[in-house]
Amino acid sequence: MAIAIHPAVDQGVKPGRADFAGGTLVCRCSSDPVKVHIGANVAFDHVCGCTKCWKPKGALFSLVAVVSRDKLSVVANGHKLKVVDASAVIQRYACTGCGVHLYGRIENKDHAFYGFDFVHPELLQEQGWAAPEFAAFVSSIIESGFPPARMGEVRSRLKELKLEPYDCLSPALMDAIATHTAKQKGTLAS
Ligand SMILES: [Zn+2]
Ligand SMILES: [Zn+2]
Repeated sequence: MAIAIHPAVDQGVKPGRADFAGGTLVCRCSSDPVKVHIGANVAFDHVCGCTKCWKPKGALFSLVAVVSRDKLSVVANGHKLKVVDASAVIQRYACTGCGVHLYGRIENKDHAFYGFDFVHPELLQEQGWAAPEFAAFVSSIIESGFPPARMGEVRSRLKELKLEPYDCLSPALMDAIATHTAKQKGTLAS
């Protein structure tokens, strides 16, 4: 049996719809769910093995993507949201009822990803969002207790799913961070 990565990709990665223009993220509370509207498609969708992202029960990876922060608004039951760790770079807003993370926000204006909010596309009630493209922080699943000796199986399965495994972010995103840092330092002309 193939190793389970995340329920949204385990049966194969579903392609997104080119005209997908946003929708509503809903938490898992059976009553008074938190709803967050995004007015655009998500970008840089990927599976993530870090220990900070919210993962559905039993999943080795989370599914996470970004959307411009000016396109995101809390539309129902926002009083149930609470920041998981106020000292973290990404302020992750979780539902106090069900534990699901609705969005993560960076408040440091000097951060390379300032302006983007992090969301979990599987919470969208609509289908057709941009498909995941790669796997980030793969080695970090060991920190959650995954046996290191089985990492080969995980990386093979990710490659089979065409989710190229990286132990940090993808090259495009790592380049974006380094470019931002170089411009701040003045080592690269802006
Ligand atoms: Zn909830
Ligand atoms: Zn993560």
